Order: sequence, then structure tokens, then C-alpha cells
Amino acid sequence: MSVIDSLKRPEHTGENRCLPCTAVNIALVVLVGLAVSVLSPLVGFVVLVGGALAVYLRGYVVPGTPSFAPRLVSALGLAEYFEHGDDGGPDRRSESLDANVDPDVMLSTLLNAGVLVEEEDGLFLADDAREEWESTMATLRKTTDEELAEAVANAVPFDATVDAEFDGISLDGPSMSVWISRPQAIADVATLYTVVERGVDPMVALAATEPMRMFTEVCPDCGGPVEETTTRNCCGGTAGLYDSPEHEVLGCADCGAVVYEFPDE
Ligand SMILES: [Zn+2]
Repeated sequence: MSVIDSLKRPEHTGENRCLPCTAVNIALVVLVGLAVSVLSPLVGFVVLVGGALAVYLRGYVVPGTPSFAPRLVSALGLAEYFEHGDDGGPDRRSESLDANVDPDVMLSTLLNAGVLVEEEDGLFLADDAREEWESTMATLRKTTDEELAEAVANAVPFDATVDAEFDGISLDGPSMSVWISRPQAIADVATLYTVVERGVDPMVALAATEPMRMFTEVCPDCGGPVEETTTRNCCGGTAGLYDSPEHEVLGCADCGAVVYEFPDE
């Protein structure tokens, strides 16, 4: 393996290259290079060339770029310049793996299958279903984004192109094109496994993915405690920038991931 090969990071370059990450890093490299040039033109030149090479080979040079660059680009209102595909590509608003299933049919199916139980004070996740759901999430938590994308592709009941993109998972299927955050993808794949295993039609299970996020007690992504909060206090995980500041959500107290967004009243 050559030195160049050992520096390459295929998960962030080639067709996996994230344009917002690359642009933000190039801009930072140029800024730093120019600033250093004022003190020493030679060192400035080395910073520029070294930085550009690192971005070319590794996709980015600033640690943690994939988690902040897409959000930074959105915040600056530049996201439209980084869309790909003729139709503008899927936007980054977090969505759900929706299916054309009557919500009443979905609910009665989940109750009959023993996924949910109805008690005097409301609907609850059955204990054994929760146990399996949470242990599946714990397993998925250890995956890389690419492995998670593969798990999503295997779990949905149709052929879809699934990619790790924009700090989440994008899915292009015959009838939907959605982007979901990593925590939501983990919860949704665990839902599909747990619900289908109880004999539920996969399309009904698909329709159950978003409502099931409501029952989350531990963060799908980090295992931290999930609490009711607002997007003002909790800005990771989903594209919270698009939401009104006081949008009610279920968010992780540890990592800030938004797991479930309560519908607007
Ligand atoms: Zn978390």
C-alpha cells in the first residue's frame, strides 16, 4: 500500500464525497493559508498545498466536518448550491418511511400482533417488543453509517438505493425519496425487524416506523436518556434549522439527537 493509498479515505471521497464538507474545508484551508502567508509566505504555501491535498485525499481536513458542514451550509442558506441530480435531490428535512396505510388499520394491527398494548391511560409498547426493539437498536448503534445504510436497504420491503449522506441516511425507492437522521434510521430499522417478526405485513410495519419513535426511552444512537424538549434546546439529529424554534420533540439529553417530532397542533 502506497503512502497515498494509506492517506485515502474512500468513505469521504469519490462518489461518497460530501460537497458541503469539501467546500467548507477548502474555504478554511484558504483562510488559514492566507493568514499564515502574512507571517511566512513559504509556510502559507505549504499549508495551502497540504490542506488541499488532504481535502482531495481524505474528503476533509477539519476533524468532525461531516457532522457540522452540511448544517453550516444549510444555515448559510447555501444548501441549494450543493444539491445533486436534476430534480434537486432529496432535501434534508427529516422524513419518515411513510406508507399508504390507514392509521386505524396500522394501530389495530399493532395491537393484535402484541406490539402495542392498550391500557386505561393510553397506548404502550409491550414489554417483550420493547426489549427486542431496544436490543436491536443497541446492535445497530455499533454500525458505521455505511453499514446502517445497508441495514435500511435490507429492512425496507422494496428495492431502494440507500446511501449514508449528509450525516444521515438517504433512501430512494420506487415511491419515496427521503432523508432520515442516523438515530431515526436506527429506530426505524429496529421497528421493521421487531414488528415484522410479530407477523405484521411489512408495509404496515413501514407505516409504524414514525409513530413507534414516540415510544423511545433511550437514544437510538448513543443510548442516552430521551426526554421531551424543544428544537430550541436540542438541535442535533434532525434538520432542526427548518423547524420552528419551539417545535416539541423527543430528544436525547446526551447527544442532542432529535428522535421524534411531535406534529404541529
Ligand atoms: Zn443520544
